[in-house]
Amino acid sequence: MAGRIALPPMSEERNSAVLPLGVVSRLLDTIEEPLMVAERSGNLLLVNTRARQCLGFHGNAEIQGLNLFNDILQVDSKKIFGELERGQHEVNLNIEGGEKKSAARIQWMPEPDWLVVEIESKSEAHAGPDPATQLTVQELLQEREITYRNLLAAYLKLQEVNRQKTVFLASAAHELKTPLAVIKGYYDLLLAGSLGRLTDKQRDILEESKDSCERLVRLISMFLNYSALESGKLVLQLRENDLRDCLDELSKRWSEAFQRKGVKLDASFDPSIPAFRFDYQKVQQVAANLLDNALKHTPAGGSVALRAAPHFWERRVASMAPAEERRRFRLPRPNSVEVSVTDSGPGIAAEHHQEIFEDFVRVDRNTSGMGLGLAIAKRLIQAHRGKIWVESESRAGSKFTFLLPMDQG
Ligand code: ADP
Repeated sequence: MAGRIALPPMSEERNSAVLPLGVVSRLLDTIEEPLMVAERSGNLLLVNTRARQCLGFHGNAEIQGLNLFNDILQVDSKKIFGELERGQHEVNLNIEGGEKKSAARIQWMPEPDWLVVEIESKSEAHAGPDPATQLTVQELLQEREITYRNLLAAYLKLQEVNRQKTVFLASAAHELKTPLAVIKGYYDLLLAGSLGRLTDKQRDILEESKDSCERLVRLISMFLNYSALESGKLVLQLRENDLRDCLDELSKRWSEAFQRKGVKLDASFDPSIPAFRFDYQKVQQVAANLLDNALKHTPAGGSVALRAAPHFWERRVASMAPAEERRRFRLPRPNSVEVSVTDSGPGIAAEHHQEIFEDFVRVDRNTSGMGLGLAIAKRLIQAHRGKIWVESESRAGSKFTFLLPMDQG
């Protein structure tokens, strides 16, 4: 054992080499094992730093005058020496005193008649966990598990109730579509003069009623689209399509409504947009929702511009790279198309720019709507791995833009 090697040799011829006790003490302090050396009487000669830590002593002063048997081991010295003299190499004992439990291995050095005590601290890991604490931790874990299960069950139930509500509303909305189609059909018949000549006054009233009927149909369609998206029925029909055809068809469909309100619609599409894969109906629906909003919010005499052009879309990872690197990796050709709808309406305050894309959020309460048009548009664009945003200032018009990547899988 290292402790005993460090002890001063007591033989005559090497007596001159006996080390002073202070030096031996410092040597013992360098040893990792907790060690004590005591005389036969129990008078402590040396206690190294590790042993002092194990026994809970803070300095040398605290151990001065202590007796190994009475104060530390709390055992009768006769018991120890009895066992050692019977030829036993060492005696093992538990030290109960102090906060930490430890065990002592006692060996006898006959030549100087010293006892060398090695202390083994029984760490918490060895001693095993306190059963009281163990129980509490187990109970807490069980409680957490039960709470988690209850929360999950409640969440699933809520989701199911929510789904049933959406399904119910969707079927009710669907039922409304048929009578509305019939009403709209009769408006068309009347306006065409098939059921007799109309006075100018009658024509105006019928046209206004037809507009309202069409708005109702759009609202219902909007809700049906939303409920379809909500119940996870969004499946993109990705085909190679011409975006200019898609938007041109739309602007023609809307031109009459713009004319009626006295708002100028200016549609222009960059001829270099190539054909690429996208869902024709869904992208048309997004642009329709934006045009619908622009028309709704732009007063008579105002203007709305629908634009589409190829775009270099550097996704965030690329934009975080240093400027020269970005230039080095410059895309060879546009990888997306940018579509925008700009109006000269009242604009939207900056604090609403994010929330207007959320479900059922409406800022302007003076117009009709359900607060779903932009939420649907956002979902459809994100399904295409694109993005949509608004730039606007109060009283300065709005510009809604969406990007469609051209590399749809
Ligand atoms: P809805 O039009 O049914 O209210 P949307 O989701 O389409 O729902 O729009 C949410 C809100 O965003 C609207 O209530 C309106 O306040 C605002 N908004 C949308 N487009 C415009 C626009 N072009 N100009 C001004 N406000 C707009």
